[in-house]
Amino acid sequence: MAEPLLSVHDLDVSYDQVEALHGVSLEVGDGEAVALIGANGAGKSTLLRSIIGLLRPRAGRVVFAGRTVDALRPEQRARLNLGYCPEGREIFPELTVRENLEVASWRPALKRGRLVDRVYDVFPALAGKDSDPGWQLSGGQQQMLAIGRALMGEPRLLLLDEPSLGLSPILVSQVFANIERIVAEGTAVLLAEQNASKALKICRRAYVLRVGEVVLSGGAAELRENEEVKEAYLGG
Ligand code: ATP
Repeated sequence: MAEPLLSVHDLDVSYDQVEALHGVSLEVGDGEAVALIGANGAGKSTLLRSIIGLLRPRAGRVVFAGRTVDALRPEQRARLNLGYCPEGREIFPELTVRENLEVASWRPALKRGRLVDRVYDVFPALAGKDSDPGWQLSGGQQQMLAIGRALMGEPRLLLLDEPSLGLSPILVSQVFANIERIVAEGTAVLLAEQNASKALKICRRAYVLRVGEVVLSGGAAELRENEEVKEAYLGG
């Protein structure tokens, strides 16, 4: 079998003395969409922040694209084409949509322009807002811009933290359709979501995180039929 694009081995992460992740292992294959589901506080954000390097695990190992990345800073991991879109849409409100995208790329101007075009292709709703400041965008458009910023790094794997947060059901559907398109074009995604129902629809596999540990994993279709998943995450 081909080596996974991302593999996380036995990760332990603590905030001061409080353990937030314990012995977490997972894999994402090249081009694969994998969901990370779990309730509020289960450790989803902590795991994504550890993978991109914003948190230093106490134990364990992260391997991306054949390389152990534990000693690398977040920007060094980003240069290996590991993308990260944090929870809460961290965009620059005073910059225009285009400027928000451009500052997220280290490529020369011509290439940067092509990458912006690609983001507009994935998110047509942003194309008409090119010169508008970030603060004028709706919540859904800000989420699209946040994902677009992560795409400017040409990720092979995109870590997405709770993209449905605070969006209306219609906007959630739109954003998830955009994520499906990103995957269809070849980018792998690790999607942390409380909205398990939506996440299991667009992902091939999933891991269920509970109080810092992986308690279940498997194919999305199989997990949708799992009694515990139905009860705890799919509203019975
Ligand atoms: P949410 O959906 O609310 O973001 P989550 O599954 O992403 O939840 P985390 O935010 O990773 O969960 O939190 C995991 C645990 O770590 C929780 O118990 C949380 O209270 C704790 N925690 C998170 N951030 C910190 C922090 N900066 N300092 C101390 N404890 C933290």
